[in-house]
Amino acid sequence: MRGNTLGGFDRFRLPAALLVAAIHTGPLLSVSPFANDLLTDIWGRIAVPFFFAVSGWFLVPRLRREGVAALGPFLKKTLLLYLLSALLYLPLNLYNHTLQDSGAALLRDIFFNGTFYHLWYFPALALGACIVWALVRGLGKRAWLPAVLLYLIGLLGDSWYGLTAALPPVRAAYEGMFLCFDYTRNGLFSTPIFLLLGGWLAQRPRRGGAGRYRAGLLVSLALLTAEGLLVKHFSLARFDALYLTLPLCVGFLLLWLAALELPAIPALRGWTAAIYVLHPWCIVLVRGGARVVGLTGALVDNSLGHYGAVVLLSALLALPFAFLRPARADPRGRAWIEIDAAALRHNLSALSALLPQGGRLMPVVKANAYGHGDLTVARICAGEGIRAFAVATASEGARLRRGGVRGAILVLGYTGPREVPLLARCRLTQTVVSAEHARALDAAGHRIAVHLKIDTGLHRLGIPWDDVEGLVAPFACRSLKVTGVFTHLSDAEALDEASQARTQEQLRRFQQAVEGLRRAGFDPGAVHFQGSYGLLNYGGLPCDYARPGIALYGVFSAPSHHTRSAVELRPVLSLRARVAQLHRLEAREAAGYDGSFTARRPTVLAALAIGYADGWPRSLSSGAGRVLLHGQPAPVAGLVCMDQLLVDVTDIPDVSPGDIATLVGRDGPAELFAGQTALAAGTITNELLSRLGPRLPRLTVNDLPS
Ligand SMILES: *Cc1c(COP(=O)(O)O)cnc(C)c1O
Repeated sequence: MRGNTLGGFDRFRLPAALLVAAIHTGPLLSVSPFANDLLTDIWGRIAVPFFFAVSGWFLVPRLRREGVAALGPFLKKTLLLYLLSALLYLPLNLYNHTLQDSGAALLRDIFFNGTFYHLWYFPALALGACIVWALVRGLGKRAWLPAVLLYLIGLLGDSWYGLTAALPPVRAAYEGMFLCFDYTRNGLFSTPIFLLLGGWLAQRPRRGGAGRYRAGLLVSLALLTAEGLLVKHFSLARFDALYLTLPLCVGFLLLWLAALELPAIPALRGWTAAIYVLHPWCIVLVRGGARVVGLTGALVDNSLGHYGAVVLLSALLALPFAFLRPARADPRGRAWIEIDAAALRHNLSALSALLPQGGRLMPVVKANAYGHGDLTVARICAGEGIRAFAVATASEGARLRRGGVRGAILVLGYTGPREVPLLARCRLTQTVVSAEHARALDAAGHRIAVHLKIDTGLHRLGIPWDDVEGLVAPFACRSLKVTGVFTHLSDAEALDEASQARTQEQLRRFQQAVEGLRRAGFDPGAVHFQGSYGLLNYGGLPCDYARPGIALYGVFSAPSHHTRSAVELRPVLSLRARVAQLHRLEAREAAGYDGSFTARRPTVLAALAIGYADGWPRSLSSGAGRVLLHGQPAPVAGLVCMDQLLVDVTDIPDVSPGDIATLVGRDGPAELFAGQTALAAGTITNELLSRLGPRLPRLTVNDLPS
């Protein structure tokens, strides 16, 4: 896995933290002021952008994939660290009287400058992440454009301020800005570009060895040096944190460190972060301490001695944080689901081709997108231009909306009047199932959009197709706005004559009801009647939407199903689990609850770390179900347990603990289809997949680098 070879990032954290400490102490001042400038005003400026870019490397791809779901926890962590650090420095603020007394100035420090000089890093990271999230969401691949622009604006208020100052109106604009923040080196101007840079590099395919990137790094460092010296020579800088060539240096630095493919050293992360946070306190302690013990000459006046003492003390005080290890779950540790984004995109386009002119897809993402992960599926769909989704319940709809899904969200199932405020708040479209239901929703007094469900023969939900009074009743409800009508077919998957006749009759009834509304002067809005099989067997009929569920996920409900349109669908979901343990049994030895398995021969059993609590049916016990291991089938042995199941691997050589079993999906040349497993369990894929539980992490694979 890629993450394990990024130890180069961990290693460079130490020099980066030491460079920041150098900026704040000036280690070479007693030796050579020029060398010190070179170190602190030019080269040292790589350090903080390096930290931003590394954050972006991990964060931005997740922001693109998961949106606010990734932003929220990141902000929480960053702001918590900020709060703790700010509290740590509060005594110094109070002692030095550096706490702003006006509310506006305090806010300025909190949001931009940091409450202590080095703490600007945290609000910058948080603000930068919010900006990048908004840019990525609004502009997709063009997010870098505003980020570059912001950086250039920042640059003209920093190292290149000399140019700005030469133009009085521009200068006035900048002076206005400086009332809001002391520097343009902040979350608004300088952070977005480095976060996006890191994210972009993370998703680029890596080619070539470290040598190429080291050369690039050296050249860009030379350019940075030249730029820094130029700025110094002409005294252009108002402050010296941002340079035109800085993003280039940071980019090559990351590429080089990644190409080194070194093993990770997690301890360096906590340690260096703590050095960063603690070193200004250490500066105070070293100065005070030196005075007390009478060593001001060596530890304060001598810049190298001072720097050495500060760094040493910081490193010591920070050491405990090296052992603070975030205790993270490994998504591939036990059992998990893989979602193939490319397969989903393929299915979307294959199903779109079946639509009539003007028709659109309304993917059904109820039941956590049939177990696939509703937000992930909705995001991939949205990326393909989908603007309408269907769910079964109001809370499923609210989850999508809160996850950042835009466009129409239709709730297909019943929602009681008490959830009308939720419908209104989340702008969900509710299905009206009867005139009575319409009046109850109306009485709640919130304006909501509704689609009328017309019962044409399934007799599950809906206003009977020939109940004219019932059909027009919702139009009289003042809080309800009817924006669509739909029905659901009961036999669309079956192509025998009787089923086709029933479907045709349902279509006729639906048509008649819709025409009746139109003739009576009511606008039915968007018209839709096809689920997956409706679309596959009765595609091309005029409609505004089709509501495919199971077909979108690339499988049929049952392996025996055939459809009129021969579209090639690709299964989106794979289900995998680790081998936890192996057991060697003598012939006639029993295993499993109730001795449900008896070895007929010397047998090897593998315990897989997945069970019925994960949604793998218990009805697959004792040989009914099988899994793939090393590309070969292994039958279930004995009763499926809640968290484990046993499979017989006697005929599969070299199985060991930690190996990955495939319960649905491809394993080398072999493939186990959800349809086969569902059939063996006496159900359909819809049930098998939608019951895959929340305990299984969902991982997206084959996603587009964007
Ligand atoms: C679940 C559902 C669908 C999707 O059905 P599939 O057969 O999975 O395509 C469509 N419409 C309604 C009303 C549904 O409840």
